[in-house]
Amino acid sequence: MSGIQERLQAVENAIVAACAEARRPAGGVKLLAVSKTFGPDAVLAAAEAGQRAFGENYVQEGVDKIAALKDRGPQFALEWHFIGPIQSNKTRPIAEHFDWVHTVEREKIAVRLSEQRPAALGPLNVCVQVNISGEASKSGAAPEEVEALAEAVARQPNLRLRGLMAIPEPADDFALQRAPFAAMRELFERLREKFGPGFDTLSMGMSADMRAAVLEGATIVRVGSAIFGARTYHK
Ligand SMILES: *Cc1c(COP(=O)(O)O)cnc(C)c1O
Repeated sequence: MSGIQERLQAVENAIVAACAEARRPAGGVKLLAVSKTFGPDAVLAAAEAGQRAFGENYVQEGVDKIAALKDRGPQFALEWHFIGPIQSNKTRPIAEHFDWVHTVEREKIAVRLSEQRPAALGPLNVCVQVNISGEASKSGAAPEEVEALAEAVARQPNLRLRGLMAIPEPADDFALQRAPFAAMRELFERLREKFGPGFDTLSMGMSADMRAAVLEGATIVRVGSAIFGARTYHK
């Protein structure tokens, strides 16, 4: 087994343990392996160990990796999630190449992604990014704006509204990690009453805080360095 495969197994074990601690079914949390800054070989090593869903932050890097890993047979039929900031002039390659987008924070971006989504690919799965830590983070819609933005996403013919995503301010203390995730869960549960069971995704938790996120109901955790190792460039 490669180092990546060993670390992937350890992360999967940690998710199962956190689910048990939360008295949640182990299958209720999906692992998104964040492969930004790592090459196609690293993705292939994880895919050989059974990992299917990968997250990318940078449009060109992601599109290049998707192209490099295309058409390798059913074992490598991968699902690609865009999780980085979105500039409005970069929506087209995202709409054309990715399966999911976690970082919609403005209606204009949702409209463009829908207009540019090729019909043959089916709807693009979308989460609305929430600025749950307030001033500390510049990304995401303010909690009071999230419902209107989610409605706008739900109106787009080529988007499928799936849920919410957040990147809270990093914290070492477990209780401080947990508080913003708890706030996300409340917002998620309230909106789920409105949008129904198709609104099924709460994307939160990274290498350093995934246990707190799973305890507060994350359905997707986005984990990079704990699987692929430390990144030598970018964040
Ligand atoms: C980089 C990144 C991750 C993964 O972070 P790690 O700390 O390496 O697990 C998750 N989500 C987003 C949005 C990221 O940019």
